[in-house]
Amino acid sequence: AAPTGSATRAASEAVVATARALLFALTGAEPDGVWSAPGRVNLIGEHTDYNDGYAMPFAIDHRTVAAVRRREDGRMRVASTFSPEPVEIDLADLSGAEFPRDAMPEWAAYPLGVAWALGTAGREGVDIALASDVPVGAGLSSSAAIEGATASALRDLWGLDLDATALARIGRRAENDAVGAPTGIMDQLASMLGRRDAAIFIDCRSLEGTPVDLGFAAAGLELLVIDTRVQHAHSTGGYGDRRAACERGAAALGMPALRDLSTADLDRARSILDDVTFRRVRHVVTEDQRVLDTVHVLRAEGPLAIGDLLVASHVSLRDDFEVSCPELDTAVDAALAAGALGARMTGGGFGGSAIALVAREKTDAVADAVTRAFADAGFTAPAVFTVQPSEGARRDA
Ligand code: ADP
Ligand code: MG
Repeated sequence: AAPTGSATRAASEAVVATARALLFALTGAEPDGVWSAPGRVNLIGEHTDYNDGYAMPFAIDHRTVAAVRRREDGRMRVASTFSPEPVEIDLADLSGAEFPRDAMPEWAAYPLGVAWALGTAGREGVDIALASDVPVGAGLSSSAAIEGATASALRDLWGLDLDATALARIGRRAENDAVGAPTGIMDQLASMLGRRDAAIFIDCRSLEGTPVDLGFAAAGLELLVIDTRVQHAHSTGGYGDRRAACERGAAALGMPALRDLSTADLDRARSILDDVTFRRVRHVVTEDQRVLDTVHVLRAEGPLAIGDLLVASHVSLRDDFEVSCPELDTAVDAALAAGALGARMTGGGFGGSAIALVAREKTDAVADAVTRAFADAGFTAPAVFTVQPSEGARRDA
């Protein structure tokens, strides 16, 4: 564990240095503070969050860093290594009921949306420089990382009495109402609440997050991420459509949310719903049960025993929820054929990443097998790397 730990720290120190340098280029001064928040991998529990259900993500050792400096003119400026042009706005223009989305490039709606969601009336101006080593659009939630870093910084600078869960809600509000992506709250909770060597079991109704030890290292396991490099777009893709199907299904069954159904209700659901809506509902209801089963199995037997649950999750997402794609299926099939204990797509789907739980001595063989399978299928080469369950949002300096 020691070499990995120090490599992780070194990587995030490089990102911190980049954010500081960008702030210096912008303002000619050092930051008043530096904050960061991680991306996340969802171990299991996909498309359950907006159904008030269960999910079990963990924060990863890839972070977005915000180097921040106060300014005295009531204006807010954001800069990112992702974009050559900083974006500047008067805080008064962020105080309305509607976020001025058309006035800026999309990326700036994430940090400025967080400020808008926190409320900007009477606040001090601020310059924010962002750097990140979270891959974008890979299903690792670079969006929750930028929201978490920005929200943590503004909370402290503006002296707001908000806990991690409240900041997760602010991040979701920015993503839903400022950016316009109708996503749930799981990503933000994972990024805010993450803990070293643990996943966070999230009840998306109560918003309670409970750390559950993963014990991967002690069991000789590694978690591989396979980034398919297929870009997804939550705001324009089939995500809104899936969400609508879930709401339709819950309404037809007379429930506030699909969370309120159990697998025992599926026969009734089948008799009432059309085939597509039924399969969407069946995915969510069985996925909630798989999350509960994963918590139980981790505690009772440890991580060597959760592989089949991961695979069952993938099959359900592929066949019932229909949010996988050929690249994700190839990654999962190749990883399992090469000896992974379990594998599944992770994140919203339509591209992004798959994960594979692998005995340490097989990690290279599984990575090679996946890369070969992509080449054979004529797909763009995937990025394959391991991630460590890590700490959530924090102040770094
Ligand atoms: P994911 O969260 O899976 O990475 P999303 O589509 O939800 O993908 O969010 C990605 C978007 O978030 C990017 O296209 C960009 O607009 C914004 N974003 C994320 N991180 C940064 C960053 N460090 N700087 C600027 N924009 C970022
Ligand atoms: Mg996202």
